[in-house]
Amino acid sequence: MVVIGSAQTRQRYVSENQEMPETLINLVQVTKHYRRDTIEIPVLDNIDLEIAPGEFLALMGPSGSGKTTLLNLIAGIDKPNSGRIVIDGKDIAKLGEQQLAKWRARHVGFIFQLYNLIPVLSAFENVELPLLLTKLSKKKRRDHVMTALAVVGLEDRERHYPRQLSGGQEQRVAIARAIVTDPTLLVADEPTGDLDAKSAEEILDLLKRLNEEFHKTIIMVTHDPRAASHAHSVLHLEKGVLSKSGGVYEVPAAHH
Ligand code: ADP
Ligand code: MG
Repeated sequence: MVVIGSAQTRQRYVSENQEMPETLINLVQVTKHYRRDTIEIPVLDNIDLEIAPGEFLALMGPSGSGKTTLLNLIAGIDKPNSGRIVIDGKDIAKLGEQQLAKWRARHVGFIFQLYNLIPVLSAFENVELPLLLTKLSKKKRRDHVMTALAVVGLEDRERHYPRQLSGGQEQRVAIARAIVTDPTLLVADEPTGDLDAKSAEEILDLLKRLNEEFHKTIIMVTHDPRAASHAHSVLHLEKGVLSKSGGVYEVPAAHH
């Protein structure tokens, strides 16, 4: 379940339903602006958002509307100017850089539009990268990498380099890299933006499987309504404000 709206309306919802919805991600009054020289560019304006564990959320909106910014805040890549970002009970906006990096490595898997694989590393080595930050033995690392490659259907490509793979395969290696540490949350920024329709469909099916079978909570930014239709719920970001689209529960305003 996804809930947007102010703290007040959220409270109303909870009391009317007599039960507290389980929440994995809770953004409270999150504001973000960038500064270029003396000009302040407002991006996110007091965002309130609750995302339940196991959600598969698509985030849409025009280019420049702040989708990547919002995703990066939730993933702990960037910090808000104000507000709280509580994930699994922890306000990550309060963490220092080092703690945040540690938190990210444990809890978040990243999937990018252009895959971001390292060209001089094999598929195996690319997927192994996040594990080099852990204390796992070489043997254990191999087990985890091969398991992740098997999930995305590429065990037989472990020795291939990115240039020897198709775009769809590169994205599958990138997804293996994202899941190899078994994170709670997967964030995907236009994961099908650079793929043909067939490869895009395969990637979306894979994300759906990771959600349904492996219970990953997924937030996916996309321009493509077809891609968004694979998600449980769709939110639109425009002019710094989130609004609902089909399937998202929105609390009626308090004055109604
Ligand atoms: P989207 O992903 O929806 O296309 P972004 O989140 O990338 O949008 O960007 C939102 C706005 O913030 C844009 O106006 C962009 O120019 C600005 N912006 C993003 N990152 C930075 C940055 N590091 N410094 C300054 N402005 C930025
Ligand atoms: Mg973007």
